[in-house]
Formats: sequence, structure tokens, C-alpha cells
Amino acid sequence: MSAKKANLSGELKKYFGFSTFKGQQEEIINNLLNGKDIFVLMPTGGGKSLCYQLPALISEGTAIVVSPLIALMKNQVDAVNGLSSETGIAHVLNSSLNKTQTKQVFDDIKSGKTKLLYVAPESLIKEDYLEFLKDVKISFVAIDEAHCISEWGHDFRPEYRNLKQIIDKIADVPVIALTATATPKVQDDIQKTLGMSNALVFKESFNRPNLFYEVTPKVNIDKEIVKFINKNKGKSGIIYCLSRRKVEEFAQLLQVNGINALPYHAGLDQKVRVANQDKFLMEEADVIVATIAFGMGIDKPDVRFVIHYDFPKSLESYYQETGRAGRDGGEGYCLAFYDPKDIEKLEKFLAQKPVSEREIGLQLLNEVVGYAETSMSRRQYILYYFGEIFDPVNGEGAKMCDNAANPPKLKDASEDLKKALEL
Ligand code: ADP
Ligand code: MG
Repeated sequence: MSAKKANLSGELKKYFGFSTFKGQQEEIINNLLNGKDIFVLMPTGGGKSLCYQLPALISEGTAIVVSPLIALMKNQVDAVNGLSSETGIAHVLNSSLNKTQTKQVFDDIKSGKTKLLYVAPESLIKEDYLEFLKDVKISFVAIDEAHCISEWGHDFRPEYRNLKQIIDKIADVPVIALTATATPKVQDDIQKTLGMSNALVFKESFNRPNLFYEVTPKVNIDKEIVKFINKNKGKSGIIYCLSRRKVEEFAQLLQVNGINALPYHAGLDQKVRVANQDKFLMEEADVIVATIAFGMGIDKPDVRFVIHYDFPKSLESYYQETGRAGRDGGEGYCLAFYDPKDIEKLEKFLAQKPVSEREIGLQLLNEVVGYAETSMSRRQYILYYFGEIFDPVNGEGAKMCDNAANPPKLKDASEDLKKALEL
């Protein structure tokens, strides 16, 4: 193992072309190679994939990578296969493969060629896959987007809940779980469900110091947004609305106002949806008006603003959605329009859900209302939610929110009071 340790930078350069590790990548990889279970909490863009790709590439056998979305898996497999001139280093295993393709995947694994095998959890339970995987050499299991295990996360997938039992059937190997969701509840849920209470936990700060957070009352919203966009002409931005109908209406309203905007939601024809997304990525459209269906796995570095036309359902979603701004480290303005009536609507909607889902939903709503109504540093509020202590005076990005830049009336009053008492 120590030989591997000395060589990691060389392997990083060789496979990925990078000269240095990002954050705690090297320590994570070393511990995984030494057989430890690992839990990685790192914001989006932090470089989580490399934490399992590199050790997989240099280990004997095949690493199983569990990932929730076929599109994400395909992207990753293409990326990994692009790292080397050899074929079959990474594969996806799922039921869309025909017999010949499946045989090819199995052959490549048996021959030791395949270093990374991407599977969705619902595929992993298939009996013939399980039987096959039991008999081959597995290096470790990586569970990407591990928050999908938790009902407290923003993307719960019931299929994730049985992963532990399935993995135990396949092999006794180290497990690395990774997520960009770090609320203490989700973290706890993941560790319990995966039986990883003794895992080494690596957590990086979720602070995004270049993002400016503002919450503003929802009045004259259409006009306000048009004004905002006109002030930021030519910049890329995302506007999130709750309903598909609103997405289409508002995209149209922006177009009528001479703004280069396009709609995106899951109800649009697949071709239109992809075309609109591509136009946004290629800068042919400045603004995309979307439901939350837009964004997962999208890596556009220069999104300059994220506007919430409707308030998000949880602070977690808000963080993920605003996190798409300023990925390049440049300016990112996050503006959310708040109307308590919208929250009431969401509550009514939740009232139709089963009890457990309703209770979770209401609690998440309470927290997001707290964010809307707070007069403290918004960054401090968000980070506290992720279990981080943030210094609202000297912390990185401390001035980057409405409450810090223009302290609300309430604070002015208490200042006045203090002065009055000092006199
Ligand atoms: P995450 O899954 O945490 O959101 P990714 O694994 O997609 O992040 O990585 C985000 C970006 O960071 C990718 O473009 C990746 O190539 C890059 N990256 C990862 N590790 C390094 C590194 N050591 N040096 C430079 N870039 C890196
Ligand atoms: Mg990732």
C-alpha cells in the first residue's frame, strides 16, 4: 500500500493530466486503498468522481459505481474511457443492453480490463447480474449521490435503501459513499442505512463565497425580473418556477420583452427540451426558465444569476439550485422572491401526501421560511443548516448577502437603542 501512496500524484498526472489533488482527494484515495470505508461530503464541483475513479483505475479488479441517473453514468463512462486508448475500462450495466453487449461487458470484467462498472441500484438487484458479480474480483463499491438513500434529501430514491444488503451479497469490500448534501439528518441517515457508522468522514466546506444571496418580497415580480435581466444584459441566468405552466408563461413574457429566454421542463417534447438546454449551454439563449427538472449534472461555469420566481421547497434544494451560479468562481447572484402565500400553497399540496412524507415536507418548509424571514447573514443561515459554523463578520463572503450589505431595519433599530443606552 505504501508504494501506491508514493505514486498517487504520478497516477493522477498519467490518467487525468492534473498536477495536484483538489481538497482532500489524496487522503481519501489513500484511505480507500487501505481498505477503509469512506464517507465524502463535498459540494458540487468539488471533485468527488476522482475519489473513486483514480483508485479504481489502479486497483486490481472492478469497482462497482452505483449512480442514480443513466445520463450521468453515460457521461462518466465516456469520460473515463477517454482517459486511455484501451477499450472497455468503464462500462454501464443495465437492461437496455442486448445479449451481445451484456456478454461483452461480462467478458471485459472477467478479463480484468474493466476497472469501473456503473450500475443503477434497480439493475443491481437483477438475479443474473448478482450471480455474475459474486464470482468476479471486485475492488470496492462507490455509492455516488448517496443522499438518494434519505427521505430528508432532495432526491429520494427508494431503490437506494436496500443497497447495503445487495452489496453484502456481492462482496466484502470497502465502500465509499459520496454526496453533495451535507445536512446532519441526511448524513446520519446515509451512515445508518449503509451500516457505515465507523466510516472515515471527509467533509469539505459548503461555503460558496462568490455567491450573493438576496430574498425580496414577491411584488411586481414580472417587472422586477425584466428590470434585473436588462441590467445584466448578455449574462447567463436560470429562473426557477414551480409549475410547468408558469415556466412557459414566463419564458414567453420575457421573449415579448426582448429577452433571449427559453423554457425547460419535463413535460416538453424531448427534442425541444434538449435543444433548449443546448442553446443555453452554447450561449444562444441567455436565460433559461425552468422547473427543478433543469440542472442535475449540468456544468455551465458562467451562470451569473439564479432567480427563484417561486420559493424553493427546502433549503437544501435552494442550495443545490443556486449552486449552479458562479461555478467558475466569478459573480453569482442568487435572488429569491418570497410570498408567504406561496408557502401556504405548498402546505396545502403536502396535506394530500402520506403522513411521513407530509411531516418531512412541512419541516423542510419551516426551515426554508426561516431562511426567507431571517435578518441574520444568509450565508451563516445556510451553512448552519449544513452543520457548519460561519463567522458572519470575518468569514469568506461575509458581506455577500442582502442582510449583511444593507442591514435590515430591525438591526438599525437595535443599533440605535444601543447608542441611546450608551449616552
Ligand atoms: P462533483 O462530483 O464533486 O460535483 P466532479 O467529480 O464532477 O465533481 O468534478 C468537478 C470538476 O473538477 C471536473 O471538471 C473535474 O475534472 C475537476 N477536477 C477534479 N479533480 C481535480 C484535480 N485534482 N485537479 C483539477 N481539476 C479537478
Ligand atoms: Mg458528482
